[in-house]
Amino acid sequence: MTMSIACARCFANWGFRQVVAQHADLPDATCPRCAHVGPLINTEKLAEAIHVFFVGGSYLAETMAPVYQVNRSNPDPARFDSTLDADAQLACALTGEVIFDYGPPLWRVGEVDLKHAFDEGGDKREAPARGFVTHAPRVELPAGTRLFRIRKNPDPDETIATAAAFDPPPQHIERTAGRWDDGRTPVLYASDDIELCLHECRVLIADETVVATLSTTRPLALLDLTGEFALVGGTPFEDPSIFSRFLSLSRHEQWLDHARTVARAAKSASLDGIRYTSYYGQAKQQSESLNVALFGRPLEIGDLVIESVNRLRLTDARYEVSFGPVLYRDSQMQAELKEMIRRLTFRAVI
Ligand SMILES: [Zn+2]
Repeated sequence: MTMSIACARCFANWGFRQVVAQHADLPDATCPRCAHVGPLINTEKLAEAIHVFFVGGSYLAETMAPVYQVNRSNPDPARFDSTLDADAQLACALTGEVIFDYGPPLWRVGEVDLKHAFDEGGDKREAPARGFVTHAPRVELPAGTRLFRIRKNPDPDETIATAAAFDPPPQHIERTAGRWDDGRTPVLYASDDIELCLHECRVLIADETVVATLSTTRPLALLDLTGEFALVGGTPFEDPSIFSRFLSLSRHEQWLDHARTVARAAKSASLDGIRYTSYYGQAKQQSESLNVALFGRPLEIGDLVIESVNRLRLTDARYEVSFGPVLYRDSQMQAELKEMIRRLTFRAVI
């Protein structure tokens, strides 16, 4: 039975009101609480809105961990900023749900067994790296696969439609490290999605931007970090797919170091490169784009050819957002997590 209990206008916080409005699917009528006439919401849908806003809206960037969770029994409800607190209390009173501070299991912030093995550093990480590469899924890019690669602000006198213009720069030129390279070994990054290339290159309107349409000339064997692992761990801590996800998505120096170790192991296993989830894939819905890091200089050796070169102009840049609570306990929570991780690391050392 769908009993209407409230409407979006019963709530004051702008973001929460939007989420409630998205869930208010009963026909327009007079609200039993505030007497406003408009679409109404029932208990079930309001509980859903609470989950979407407070849990979905509180994920820490680059992790699988929300700051808040919801159930019907926690004795210690969370408090929120002054523009939201009354709404949270009202929504909970109407539904029986409780929003509480969530101490996430450590795997949700990437503290998994494989990471700890990699953390050992030096030679001790080589065996786990080889093991990871052996068990990770693979994919073959067929000859003729189309990929894009972007250059920002090329030299005006540069000859642009050449391998040298789109391969990784030669050894003597200083280059910044990438996710899958430390700046000393050449790796070419490309994608079949121009929009993702633009994000990865952080293109601004003022930039002169050139895109090369590339094509593979032979089948390329890649480590596929977007694929399903055949071996699944008994617990999330043992699950290599969680380690794999953090390799692709975290920007912390320690994770980047681990990603580069995996790249070296993949190269040693005679693979041509890595397929991975773009960092910006986190903010792109339904993205099935192909993002690859190819070892060496594939244009120079002819594994890739340039089909065309074009200038790009940004004509539309849009963002889609979702609302959530302000994480004013975030710094405290980060400190707690750091302390937990420090203790774990300490235990591993002794
Ligand atoms: Zn109302």
